[in-house]
Amino acid sequence: MGNEGNAASETPDSNRRDSNRKHYNGKDVAVSFDASVCQHAGECVKGLPSVFDTKARPWINPDGADADAVRAQVERCPSGALQHHPADHAG
Ligand code: SF4
Repeated sequence: MGNEGNAASETPDSNRRDSNRKHYNGKDVAVSFDASVCQHAGECVKGLPSVFDTKARPWINPDGADADAVRAQVERCPSGALQHHPADHAG
């Protein structure tokens, strides 16, 4: 549980992906992003600018919209650069 998504185990280049992946934690959902696979298609910033704002730091605000909307937008990322995860409630 909590580990949904594709098992892309046969893509050699994907072995490096975690080294570049940054995590953005929110109250209800967390988002991660790997710039090395981003195609800069802009789907995320066009689709949900309250969450994905390249002028803001950090540029992803997982609390900027409803968690379901965040997850839906992440799943529209054509490259797989964006992924969503359960929120980390460590605090
Ligand atoms: S939708 Fe995905 S590939 Fe497109 S700009 Fe955003 S992170 Fe990059």
